[in-house]
Amino acid sequence: MDMSFTPEQEAFRSEVREWIAQAMPPHIATKANNDGAFSNAEVMEWHKVLAAKGWVAPHWPKEFGGPGFDATQRFIFGQEMELAGTPQLSPFGLSMVGPLIMQFGNDAQKQRFLPKILSGEEVWCQGYSEPNAGSDLASLKTRAEKNAAGNYVLNGQKTWTTYAQYADWIFVLARTNPDVKQQAGISFFLVDMKTPGLTVKPFLTTGGTPAFCETWFENVEVPKENLIGQENMGWTYAKALLGHERTLVSGVGISARTLLRTKRLAKEIQKDGRPLLEDPGFRAKIARSEIKLEALRMTVLRSLASAQLGHAPGPESSILKLRGTDLQQETVDLLMEVLGHDSLTWFNPEGTVNPRGESAPSIFNYVRAATIYAGSNEIQKNIIAKMILGLPSA
Ligand SMILES: Cc1cc2nc3c(=O)[nH]c(=O)nc-3n(C[C@H](O)[C@H](O)[C@H](O)COP(=O)(O)OP(=O)(O)OC[C@H]3O[C@@H](n4cnc5c(N)ncnc54)[C@H](O)[C@@H]3O)c2cc1C
Repeated sequence: MDMSFTPEQEAFRSEVREWIAQAMPPHIATKANNDGAFSNAEVMEWHKVLAAKGWVAPHWPKEFGGPGFDATQRFIFGQEMELAGTPQLSPFGLSMVGPLIMQFGNDAQKQRFLPKILSGEEVWCQGYSEPNAGSDLASLKTRAEKNAAGNYVLNGQKTWTTYAQYADWIFVLARTNPDVKQQAGISFFLVDMKTPGLTVKPFLTTGGTPAFCETWFENVEVPKENLIGQENMGWTYAKALLGHERTLVSGVGISARTLLRTKRLAKEIQKDGRPLLEDPGFRAKIARSEIKLEALRMTVLRSLASAQLGHAPGPESSILKLRGTDLQQETVDLLMEVLGHDSLTWFNPEGTVNPRGESAPSIFNYVRAATIYAGSNEIQKNIIAKMILGLPSA
């Protein structure tokens, strides 16, 4: 397999690189160079810059406003964005509910929702998990009952709703039939966050970010037009969306950037009178992570090529999730090792005071969660055992 890029693809890479360099607002570029944390306002600012260029949804088909990139262009584009350290856009609209609406939504829903996801006018969050329904998502208790007008009334609680405090809309799984097998009684709803009865309570994590929320539904009325597909078929749609989510969380760019930063620091930091990067033991660790990164990158490329042919993400997305999140943790462990006592500094949202150590402990704490969210890694192993290796259920 020839993995080198053609002259056209290299020209595309240069075009993307040059565009990012001139399009990134200076205050965002400063933070990107210093590994600072981006505020929600900065993420949305970058979203709008990309939207104006027509590059905000590289994976969307042209008919819905995507740029018409092929799989390799998407890969090159993503790599350049990651290498430049640009803010990561909220995935819930662009990478989760957007593709789901394209696949299972009706024409009215496509016209109503997709343009506003692209423009950034409407930001989304994900209402799947509940206090007692995470890995065992099908046991969710939030109810949706039809009222006299044929609309749905939602009652229940969601948890871990990332960035719900900034969202305009939430996609929700709720039980519409309690009398059948769990998976057969769930429906998928699009809910306006301003609906009366919907309350969001943010909470802080050890990563220092107020990223997560509890979301409460008390008699929240959802118009029947906001049901996706058919009633009680939500589990099918939910699983399709999780496929998109797991492909996304492979985090190749995050690991690549952490490794780059680690190597840069290891050139500066001395051990026994020479740069740490020249220490054979340390070099071996870096090499091991780089090999894993390359293997993951190739697997992502194969999965993108398959998506390009119109195949929905299958159980292989569990492999991307598993390997990708393990690697995110491994590379941040290396970063912390290089930093030594500098890694004891706490994170600095401006990313300007001590570029050497700032933000590393925050990232370290944050990526502990990577092996939990989007379906924990133990559950991914169960999926791989059953769906790929064909082993019997435990
Ligand atoms: C940072 C973060 C952000 C999140 N963002 C969102 C969001 O925006 N929206 C949303 O809906 N959800 C979100 N989640 C929720 C996430 O998807 C769940 O945390 C995840 O699915 C695990 O569920 P749980 O926390 O209930 O753990 P549990 O299901 O209680 O699992 C606890 C432990 O038991 C293990 N376990 C459970 N069952 C099995 C089994 N059958 N076999 C082997 N091991 C098992 C798990 O792997 C895990 O290690 C987020 C979570 C985190 C941590």
